[in-house]
Amino acid sequence: MINADISGSAPVKPEVIELLNEYLKLNKFANPNSNHRLGCQLYNEMEQSRGELCALLGCDAENIAFNSGSTEGIRSIFFHLFEHGEINNSIIFYSALEHSATLENIKYYQDKGIEAVEIPHFKNGLLNIEDLRAKLENCHKSNILIAVMAAHNETGIIQDYQQIGALAHRFNAKYFSDTTQLIGKLPFCFESSNIDFAVASGHKFGALPGSGFLLIENPWHFRPLIIGGGQENSLRAGTQNYLGISSLAIALKAASEDMKKNEEIESVQHAFEHDLKTKFPSSTILGDSVKRVPGITFCALGGLKRSKIQNLFDQEGILITSGSACSDKKNAASRTALHLGYDKHIAQETIRISLGLGASESTYRQLTSLLDELTTHDLVA
Ligand code: PLP
Repeated sequence: MINADISGSAPVKPEVIELLNEYLKLNKFANPNSNHRLGCQLYNEMEQSRGELCALLGCDAENIAFNSGSTEGIRSIFFHLFEHGEINNSIIFYSALEHSATLENIKYYQDKGIEAVEIPHFKNGLLNIEDLRAKLENCHKSNILIAVMAAHNETGIIQDYQQIGALAHRFNAKYFSDTTQLIGKLPFCFESSNIDFAVASGHKFGALPGSGFLLIENPWHFRPLIIGGGQENSLRAGTQNYLGISSLAIALKAASEDMKKNEEIESVQHAFEHDLKTKFPSSTILGDSVKRVPGITFCALGGLKRSKIQNLFDQEGILITSGSACSDKKNAASRTALHLGYDKHIAQETIRISLGLGASESTYRQLTSLLDELTTHDLVA
């Protein structure tokens, strides 16, 4: 099997499987907040993992709140900023390419009367930062949020989050950047990122599903979404998923080592994309002129139907999607492609080949030879 859907969920790292086996073998389960021997051991291991993650992410222990992943993290940020804020003084500037976890929160607060203003993108996928600047110059509200993701879940396009954050702070705005697709794929330092709120999901980088964290620049006045037993410094109540937390530290450490292969991955990916353009001259690769997460190709292959490619790949054990996992079952035109100004016939046929570490000359060769098969059979659209 070739997993070309690592943006949907990455395979669990072998080191994490070892950890899981150890826990199961020793039945190492207890409440980490209990004061007995095993509770204290699990608590200490959890705090050690927190320390390791902080070192890898460039943040302090008080900046990190473990949770179930990005959807929860994003909900917590919006809850903190807008649940108690003055509606008339609040505004959200956002990219329409955000994940639905963010867009649904924007819609929720829009329905409650909070103004939300979209910032356009250039066709290459980058945010129009000058447009954002102009809008901030004319904004007189005091509770301002800018929501622009760091790396896009379909195209892999990376925004200049440091510049966006610096701009936000010049205008006293808070910056939330969805880092779900960046953390574990490329080096990331929270301290120098200019981001006020960042989120991560362990299943995107080989940790256990259902584990993740929220990074908060100023945690002292944070109003938690989940209240209860005061865990996580009262930033997120509930008995911690200590096994998930250990897996986060182990997987991120392994992922940081893997990042040394990024250049190699980019080089084989570019060769593959060049090959695609030669074989399918009318193909479109979204974001191919800007910096992307290595090993992700979001494309429409001129004339080849998405459903045919997906079926054939599936028969051959190659996992791909039309785009984000949330939209894959709908088989609709890609919202991302349409938003960036591509025609409906391109948007209707997009596929996302996200291999990450699995990107190699031989993997790509297998994909191209299958695509060749499609063109030589009666499957051409
Ligand atoms: N944000 C982005 C960019 C994502 O790719 C995802 C997952 O697909 C999420 C948020 C939501 O993460 P989760 O489903 O792990 O809560």
